[in-house]
Amino acid sequence: MDFESLGLGPELLKAVAECGYTEPTPIQAKAIPAILMTRDVLGLAQTGTGKTASFTLPMIEILSGGVAKARMPRSLVLAPTRELAAQVAENFEKYGKYHKLNKALLVGGESVIEQKKILDRGVDVLIATPGRLLDLFERGSILLNDIKVLVIDEADRMMDMGFIPDIEKIVSFVPPIRQTLLFSATMPKEIKRIADKFLTNPKEISVAAPAATATNVHQGLVWSPPRRKKETLAALLQQEKVKNAFVFCNRKRDIDGLAKWLKNKNYDVAALHGDMDQSKRYEVLEAFKNDEFRLLICSDVAARGLDVAAVSHVFNFDVPMHPDDYVHRIGRTGRAGMDGRAFTIAAETDDDRKYINAIEKLIGNAIEIQPMGGQKESASHSQNKPQNKPHNNSGKQATQKNKPSHSRDRDDKPENKPNHQNKQSPQKTAPQKESAPVDSVKQQPQPQKAPQQNKPNKQNKQSGQDDSSSKGFGDELPDFFKN
Ligand code: AMP
Repeated sequence: MDFESLGLGPELLKAVAECGYTEPTPIQAKAIPAILMTRDVLGLAQTGTGKTASFTLPMIEILSGGVAKARMPRSLVLAPTRELAAQVAENFEKYGKYHKLNKALLVGGESVIEQKKILDRGVDVLIATPGRLLDLFERGSILLNDIKVLVIDEADRMMDMGFIPDIEKIVSFVPPIRQTLLFSATMPKEIKRIADKFLTNPKEISVAAPAATATNVHQGLVWSPPRRKKETLAALLQQEKVKNAFVFCNRKRDIDGLAKWLKNKNYDVAALHGDMDQSKRYEVLEAFKNDEFRLLICSDVAARGLDVAAVSHVFNFDVPMHPDDYVHRIGRTGRAGMDGRAFTIAAETDDDRKYINAIEKLIGNAIEIQPMGGQKESASHSQNKPQNKPHNNSGKQATQKNKPSHSRDRDDKPENKPNHQNKQSPQKTAPQKESAPVDSVKQQPQPQKAPQQNKPNKQNKQSGQDDSSSKGFGDELPDFFKN
């Protein structure tokens, strides 16, 4: 299939061609014609599937015919975080370069006065986080009764962040006769409920998580004594050829500590989490995109869905407690068909064993144990060669001394609630091209991975399958995304 057959106009085809896309991704092939036919769409897809273009492209086509009135946007895209909203805005910019559509980005942390000025000029596309939108709506700076297309992006993340009441409120201000597009990586009951409430006879489209079937991301698992995880990370950094990497922590309070520790070891790092003020977050992200430092120590929320091209590695400093987050995290590398490497450091505790089991159940296979320095296999890893050998399950069972906290100190909070911004600046050091030497790490015996309780599950277990048969993402991917 090619883009020409989807019903997009010549200006959009030109913009798409200039992006270097040769064929639509599965979600684009299914969603674009349906949206152009003004159908509601319920898309089960996450970032990395080409989801953003699947709604921005047809929206540009639909909106190209009209004119916006002051303070009355013609379409609304709701996104859970400022960064995701900004990314959607970038997509409109990129694909809409041959159209004259006005857009506005309404996110917390930006000047309200500036945002009001833009709204007064009339916008075709309004991209917003729920908190800031409600804030401006309640001040009377914006009217939602001319909205013709409403997009709710990353609905499950909106739910995790407690935004559903805000979304319901916003939708109650939007005309009932409209086109609604809802995208979510998963379909928990609450999202099903709002989908049933907001969508009319939607076309249901489901594409598997790219990481569930992507073979271009090598995944490795390292068991570590709980108190030696930093040293384990340093050892991994030393044995891998890291161009740049996301390093994920579960708790935002650990991010700065880890960044500082790595900085002291002469690593080139910065931190990114939801408590940093908005301008700092943009600044750090831009610097990361521009290769000004190599390691971005971050939380799930700060990094979710961020599209940074050519990230060579992802390190999970903590095992994500929700298996979906694992898929999101490792999806930050190996993007756009490039090879990527993702490593998870698991503490030798019952909790981490439980989380690893849940991840392995979701992804449908065991994560390969990563040989660490001193072991024979390490040479091949240092060459960045993919390891396709089945992992070795032999070894001693780990003892559990330190139980990590169960609490998930997430940094996502609705932006209309008071937010605890700190004054912290990114912990940035001078750019450094080679891995810094680190203390040698005393190798701990590789403990046996907890026995697989669950049978591998290769199926995407999400509901709401596309009516035109849903295959795994890998089956349908354009060559571009394949190995
Ligand atoms: P998304 O799922 O929207 O986060 O998109 C993931 C990445 O895929 C982005 O970097 C897009 O620029 C890229 N992309 C979107 N559509 C295509 C396509 N048809 N072919 C190649 N890359 C694409």
